[in-house]
Amino acid sequence: MADLVAAAAAATDPCRAFLGGYPAPLLDQVRSLLADGTLGQHLARRYPEAHAIRSDGALYAHVSALKARHLRNAPALSKVAFDNRLQVDRRALGTLTAVSRVQGGKLTAKREVRVAALFKDAPAAMLDMIVVHELAHLKEREHNKPFYALCEHMQPGYHQVEFDTRLWLTWRAAAAPAGAGG
Ligand SMILES: [Zn+2]
Repeated sequence: MADLVAAAAAATDPCRAFLGGYPAPLLDQVRSLLADGTLGQHLARRYPEAHAIRSDGALYAHVSALKARHLRNAPALSKVAFDNRLQVDRRALGTLTAVSRVQGGKLTAKREVRVAALFKDAPAAMLDMIVVHELAHLKEREHNKPFYALCEHMQPGYHQVEFDTRLWLTWRAAAAPAGAGG
């Protein structure tokens, strides 16, 4: 029941789902761009570059290349995958999990990165933003200053892309209300 209510609220005001906590004048601006149908064009102009990463294998290769470039000494990743079941909201666009097990008397940690499957359709910079965020968690658990400095180092303009990704998710939710597909 609570979920239905939340879904209904998000359908009437997608701004709330992804931009909650941002100042009211900014949300008003976003609502007017949504209302006159220009938010999509605005984002497409800003992020013209798509990506061709469709499979988990291609995502693994892409993430590994970024990691080799910026975080060579960070622990290895055992799995990288798109995830259809990730509940996309403002907190969970991707995840990094570490599963510890004892193998042959040694404690090993398997680290997995999961990216919400809808980022297959996102502009290249937005997919990278999610990847960079999860990679930075290999070094910093918390969302603290060193964490965001690392994100900004791996992807200059990280903060802007993160905000624009929220705009993109808002636009997407407004274009395809709940029930009209995945
Ligand atoms: Zn995080």
